[in-house]
Amino acid sequence: MSEPSREPLGLFGGTFDPIHFGHLRLAEEAIAHLGLGGVRWIPAGNPPHRGTPQVTAAQRLAMVLRSTADNPRFSVDPAEVEAAAPSYTVPTLERLRRELGPQQSLVLLVGADAFAGLASWHRWRDLLNLAHVAVSHRPGFPVEISSLPDELATAFARRRLADTAALAKAPAGGIVTFAMTQLAISATQIRKLLANELSARYLLPDAVLDYIRTHSLYRNT
Ligand code: ATP
Repeated sequence: MSEPSREPLGLFGGTFDPIHFGHLRLAEEAIAHLGLGGVRWIPAGNPPHRGTPQVTAAQRLAMVLRSTADNPRFSVDPAEVEAAAPSYTVPTLERLRRELGPQQSLVLLVGADAFAGLASWHRWRDLLNLAHVAVSHRPGFPVEISSLPDELATAFARRRLADTAALAKAPAGGIVTFAMTQLAISATQIRKLLANELSARYLLPDAVLDYIRTHSLYRNT
């Protein structure tokens, strides 16, 4: 197979409820560590089993747009939020493959906690053939083969790339890990602080806090 012509593109899915500096540093550092041309943020639609009474998918998307607008290497893909049906990562990757072509190297960015649960994702085996996976370290979630379910551990061992430069040499199929600045920030922690009327400042962009205040989000009442 001939080599992909463009730099690898990072794909970063998440609930982003709300987006915070852990997410933003992950994307920023992935560009540098993995040699990405950019990162496409893909906020998830509202999964049916998850209760988000106050924050709509459109509001989560709005917060991602506000946080990423000033970075020319970031773009936002609203398709999952706009879709009527619940969306999964594999159909999204298939759509992006159609859009970007078979040669484009795609790198799905996931935190270590998300990677540990990958084998429960819809059609996860197909996912590994549609994109590379780059796993970032996250406080409290070691990336260890011994802590992964068997089939994922086998895939990890087989597909692991020793060198991130290899991400540019094939469109999909490899797994890499990368160390990022460790930030023990979670959206859960931020939602709890806000529900208790405590400060969440410096955990997420001021523009997002302003949006949260203006729209009275994450309040307990
Ligand atoms: P919640 O607390 O609601 O579960 P979260 O903070 O984990 O949310 P998500 O939107 O679920 O955020 O995460 C999207 C992606 O970002 C996942 O792959 C997750 O592993 C990663 N991620 C989130 N926070 C961090 C962080 N502080 N460091 C590294 N990766 C992170």
